[in-house]
Amino acid sequence: MNMPVKADVIIIGGGLVGATLALALARHEFGSIVVDAQDLDTTVTPAFDGRASAVASASARMLRALGLGDILDADGCAIRAIRVTDGTAPQFLHFDAGAEGDPLGIMMENRLLRMGLLREVRAAPLINLVAPATVTSLVRDENAATLTLADGRIFTAPLAIAADGRRSRTREDAGIRLANWRYPNAALVTMVAHSVPHGNVACEMFYPSGPMALLPMTDHSDGRPRTAIVWTVDEASADGARKLGPKALAAEIAVRVDGTMGDIEVIAPQAVWPLGFHHAATYEAQRLLLVGDAAHGIHPIAGQGLNMGWRDVAALAEVLVDAARTGQDLGSPDVLARYSAWRRLDNTMVSAVTDGLNRLFAVPGRLPSAIRRFGLAGVERIPPLKARFMAEARGETGKLPALLTGELI
Ligand SMILES: Cc1cc2nc3c(=O)[nH]c(=O)nc-3n(C[C@H](O)[C@H](O)[C@H](O)COP(=O)(O)OP(=O)(O)OC[C@H]3O[C@@H](n4cnc5c(N)ncnc54)[C@H](O)[C@@H]3O)c2cc1C
Repeated sequence: MNMPVKADVIIIGGGLVGATLALALARHEFGSIVVDAQDLDTTVTPAFDGRASAVASASARMLRALGLGDILDADGCAIRAIRVTDGTAPQFLHFDAGAEGDPLGIMMENRLLRMGLLREVRAAPLINLVAPATVTSLVRDENAATLTLADGRIFTAPLAIAADGRRSRTREDAGIRLANWRYPNAALVTMVAHSVPHGNVACEMFYPSGPMALLPMTDHSDGRPRTAIVWTVDEASADGARKLGPKALAAEIAVRVDGTMGDIEVIAPQAVWPLGFHHAATYEAQRLLLVGDAAHGIHPIAGQGLNMGWRDVAALAEVLVDAARTGQDLGSPDVLARYSAWRRLDNTMVSAVTDGLNRLFAVPGRLPSAIRRFGLAGVERIPPLKARFMAEARGETGKLPALLTGELI
């Protein structure tokens, strides 16, 4: 019989959220076991995930504090302005960070984020990464959480954390219910090179068939500007969109952006993602907490899903550091409740606003469109409202954990 290996926490799932959590905890002297079902080296290839994410500036500050500043500087593209329009209508909402100072966010390829995290996780002596591995059981009682792998290895810790994504088996096995629904559309994700520079402006164009986001990236290796595309298509068209060849896809995009990008070439195969909403009824069970997509998932329209997960990480790290400093059991109900209370409200609000935004812009017809344009113009003219939207994009609203201000705790 294998002897159990002890740690401060067991993290199930070493994706973008789980790996960041392990790193945040290691930087505060906590030892973790990170178990992932996949060979994580395969997750850094372009074929695995062609997606890019808008890293909000608060999240970027945390990643820098954790040692990933070099990746953000080398491969990140600053978003200096965000333009929201109803189709290509001339009335629009424009958020501008100015040429200097903190950008509104940084665009990064997911695989490069994973590469940086994996590098740091592997270099951290306090993190024991076990992947690929199959979890056969997670037993939680009043004393500990005990994880057993198919190869017979056993790990034990006062607290287990589910970071195993939207289909979290850990959440299901704990009997935690989920509010969830599918949107009647899918997101087509690709990357294009084009002739007209993007000027570090992100555009969110709303069409009744679904929004299209244009997200500025660092230049292509041949020097042309690059933009990541997230195009929401209705479910009926998803199959057709998946089959579009690069030339036909470039032509479709050119029509939607009304020629503003100049010559467009699709430079990555398109991936089509089904879109849904989910929110766990609770983030806690005995000696178990949920973080990231295991706890919540939203429409990618506002580029907030991963940032919500990173805010979970920053808050949880702070709660655990505080608990350790006062000698508390890391898996005690008090500690779990503090994390849940901190994160639940923020996640509920961001989820509700994102869902509402998506529904509002999905209503077809001239009248809804006129109302939306009126609304956009209204927000444009009310500086405090605009400032509030900019703070949301930067991830700077609510009570910020220290890590999101760029400080270790
Ligand atoms: C089209 C699209 C575009 C998006 N764009 C943005 C954006 O611009 N900005 C943003 O903030 N968010 C964005 N998101 C959301 C973002 O991608 C997710 O919120 C984020 O990837 C969640 O990370 P995670 O680590 O919680 O989960 P995941 O990335 O799903 O990672 C879960 C990990 O757990 C592992 N795992 C799963 N099951 C098990 C198991 N049983 N045992 C062990 N390990 C397991 C998996 O192998 C994986 O490594 C987008 C989403 C989509 C679909």
